[in-house]
Amino acid sequence: MDIQAWIPAIYLVAAVTFVLGLKGLSGPATAVAGNRIAAAGMLLAVAVTFFDKTFRDHGPAALWLTLGGMAVGAVAGVAGGRLVKMTAMPQMVALFNGAGGGSAALVSILEHLHAAHGGAHPGWAGVLSTVLGLMIGAVSFSGSAIAFGKLQGIISPRAHKYLGQTIVTVGVFAAMILAGLALVADAAGMMALGATAEMWLWVLLALALVFGVVLVMPIGGADMPVVISLLNAYTGLAVAMAGFVLNNHLLIVAGTLVGASGTILTRLMSKAMNRSLANVLFAGVGAAAGTAVAQKGDDTRAAREVSAEDTAILLGYAQEVIVVPGYGLAVAQAQHAVRELADLLESKGVNVRYAIHPVAGRMPGHMNVLLAEANVPYEKLKDMDEINDDFKDTDVALVIGANDVTNPAARTDKSSPIYGMPILDVDQAKNVIVIKRSMRSGFAGIDNELYLDAKTGMLFGDAKAAVERIIAELKKAA
Ligand code: NDP
Repeated sequence: MDIQAWIPAIYLVAAVTFVLGLKGLSGPATAVAGNRIAAAGMLLAVAVTFFDKTFRDHGPAALWLTLGGMAVGAVAGVAGGRLVKMTAMPQMVALFNGAGGGSAALVSILEHLHAAHGGAHPGWAGVLSTVLGLMIGAVSFSGSAIAFGKLQGIISPRAHKYLGQTIVTVGVFAAMILAGLALVADAAGMMALGATAEMWLWVLLALALVFGVVLVMPIGGADMPVVISLLNAYTGLAVAMAGFVLNNHLLIVAGTLVGASGTILTRLMSKAMNRSLANVLFAGVGAAAGTAVAQKGDDTRAAREVSAEDTAILLGYAQEVIVVPGYGLAVAQAQHAVRELADLLESKGVNVRYAIHPVAGRMPGHMNVLLAEANVPYEKLKDMDEINDDFKDTDVALVIGANDVTNPAARTDKSSPIYGMPILDVDQAKNVIVIKRSMRSGFAGIDNELYLDAKTGMLFGDAKAAVERIIAELKKAA
């Protein structure tokens, strides 16, 4: 059978599975199936390309090399997916994303050298694809490496700002564009680089790698998930360019889908934080996260500390409880304890639901993933818009490791960096219990008036340990 004739049809099927996969990923109930459908499509596409190109062009000698590469990738993927903790997922995504960008850049370089050494002239349009694939892929590679380093604590996560930073960033960007244009102009016959053309390719690579570094270093560690989403969109574009270079339609489709979805996700994340992308990239926010918050001069209010026993009594007598999870729940890995607490309360006739803020935690869907891991039923997870009106009829809002997403300053304080960000209306509940370790700030580095509200009780401690203490008290009372 001539597999060649079937390739366009198989690629079309694979492209459809990618679209269906993305659709599935839009909701927690369908996400796993969506992921599997897209993975099956990817396997099909890789297999058919492999049997077509590898065998036809290079014979069985390339078989072992390709299989070896695939085995290394599969082991890294499976091990990463299984062993890496949920809180470390952003850095794993950074690593995988960087690998994608780096591969696209390598494909562009190799194909260009291949054509040049073989005496072929790809034309200016072909060189433009190569230049764009190399540039975007290399920026994504080095930028993702820095993002990984910051999230992993290998590089200090603070926003590394310095005098003349804008000049350096714009200068490197301009030099990179000029080097790329020189290569395209050479291919179009508008200038003659002659024997130096190959050197310009390496100069372009070096400039793109440096640009990725100078772009990401001045961004605060906590903004890295937004940066990774943006770099992910870049990787998609680089892969699409590699598709043009290799004349592979499926790579063009897959790369464009990644580019578009990465761009949409980046916009959604910036919007949910009420910030522009420019603010994320250039303002250096997040450098002060976790700082102790000073009390305002004339404010004599003090936070009211409560014990696990007080909390257990309050929860035991409640009818409606809304759990508000945040980044601290992820840090403490308290999801299983929270599920146990909810089960215990429900066995006493209390209705427990969860309010999910779109940017709670440090990555999109962070809370959904954690709570799903603890088998909290999907129908109990309520999006902010769906549940916000219900807080006023709620007996206890139980805030676990969340801070910024509950801060009423977002509604009232025009000078606040989070002013205008939609928040969960926790302060409308009849009683509020906040579980956290101290009075320290969250990601935005600002005070939270909620903690000084007369109806708020602060239960200090690690989220997991505190919830376990409440469970113990509830069991004692039973
Ligand atoms: P915050 O970062 O505002 O607050 C988390 C709180 O958790 C801290 O105040 C901390 O207080 C507490 N905490 C930390 N560790 C523990 C622990 N082991 N046990 C108990 N508490 C703990 O988190 P939110 O989820 O409320 O808000 C997310 C923030 O991150 C927003 O500002 C958002 O814009 C930003 N962001 C979100 C992204 C996303 O995609 N989700 C991406 C980038 C930024 P203490 O130290 O006192 O314990």
